[in-house]
Order: sequence, then structure tokens, then C-alpha cells
Amino acid sequence: MRLTVLGCAGSFPSADSAASSYLVQAEDAAGRTWSVVLDLGNGALGALQRYGDARQLDAIGLSHLHADHVADLAVLHVLRRYDPSGALPPVPVFGPVGTADRLVELSGSDHASEQLVVTEWSDGSAVVVGPLTLTPVPVDHPMPAYGIRVSGPSDLDPSSAVTLSYSGDTDECPGLDALATDVDLLLVESAYVEGRDDELRGIHLTGRRAGEAAARGRARHVVLTHIPSWNDPGVAAAEARAVYDGPITLAEPGQVHVL
Ligand SMILES: [Zn+2]
Ligand SMILES: [Zn+2]
Repeated sequence: MRLTVLGCAGSFPSADSAASSYLVQAEDAAGRTWSVVLDLGNGALGALQRYGDARQLDAIGLSHLHADHVADLAVLHVLRRYDPSGALPPVPVFGPVGTADRLVELSGSDHASEQLVVTEWSDGSAVVVGPLTLTPVPVDHPMPAYGIRVSGPSDLDPSSAVTLSYSGDTDECPGLDALATDVDLLLVESAYVEGRDDELRGIHLTGRRAGEAAARGRARHVVLTHIPSWNDPGVAAAEARAVYDGPITLAEPGQVHVL
């Protein structure tokens, strides 16, 4: 299983990165590569064409419906529907309650639902996409929101399974702790800064709170993401480092993690 960071800018695109989007890929026993995209925020469709293939998508999993996580669904369906060589097959989209309405609202067209076929997540109920299993875990954000746990075959040893968890947007909560437990990689947001955002709760994590969850769950690698361009990423890393002693990486567009 491989994770490619398509976009990691927090809350809006930065000069250097699209908003949230992550490509997870793995091969099945026959050698076919399966591709799942987690979130498709503003600008992520460009990054998907650069680092992946927007024509080869097996599923999309959405953490929640804020624009910085879903905006480019509004144009993905155009790329796929009007391909000069013929319309591409529909792609299953898994998301929170309201995903189908959000898609129409964003695209201004109900044709989007012909290319992007929505199924709502059911709490804790896994979705199987080829060799990948996606499990949505409810988290704490001002709208229905999920973290997504993804398990699949290891790239390094295909006979063994590996797991990564993506926090989506969340503050600390039991769901985040569940996501951080027994994972090879925890892709976790850290949009807030200790001391600056202490009054804002139930929305985002600081680097410290992300690190504390990783430490409680004994996550084996932390990748910090969703850092807005007005933050210093080094602050998020230092906050996490103070409470978590495993490896910490700051997400960057095009970064690949082989599990
Ligand atoms: Zn966000
Ligand atoms: Zn959000």
C-alpha cells in the first residue's frame, strides 16, 4: 500500500499545495493496481493528474463536506464524463450524510451524480475496494465528519497487511484515538497552534493534540497535514515532537509513503 499526498494545505489551497487530498494505492493478487482518493479539495484534481491518474479511480472516500475537502468533485465529473474517447465508468463516492446534495450544489448539475455515485458512510461499517478496506470512524468537527482507516497489503511484504489512518478534520475525541491505535501511519491534521487557538475547540487539532493522540495509540509514524499557509509548519512539528517520540513527517505535495 502506498500513500501519495496530492494536497495538504489546510482550509484553503496554498501557493504550493492544493487543499486536502490523498491517493492510496495497492495491488491485488493478480497485480492490478487499485486507487482510492481520500478527499478532493480545491486544486486537487490538478495534483491528481500530476501524481496519479484521474482516469483510473476505483473509489473516493470523503471525510466531510467542507469545500477544502470536496470542491474538486465539481469538476472531476466533467473530466470523466466528456473525455473525448468516451465517458469513463462511474466512480463510487463514499461520504457523510448529505454528500449527494452537496455534489449537486457544487457542480450546479445533477449530471455529476451519473459519474460520481454516492453511498453514505455507515458508522464503523467497512467498505471494500479491491485489496483495500476503508473504515469510517466518526470524529469531532462542526458538521458530520469521519476519519478513515485504510488497510491493505504491504508493498514491502504483500503477504502482510498494513494500516494507515487519516484523521480528516477533528479535535481530540474517542474516534481520533481509535484511528491512532495500531496503525503504521497516522495522517493527522494540525491546523491550530497552542496558545493562539486555545478557545477554539471541537474543530481542529494542534500539533500537540495530534501528537498526544499518536502517543496514546502508539501510532508508528505521524504525518502532519492540513496546516494553513498562515502557520509555521515547524511549530506544528515541534508541538507534536514534545509529546510523541516516533517519526514525524510534515506532509508535502507529491510525497509518497510506502507501507
Ligand atoms: Zn479542512
Ligand atoms: Zn472541515
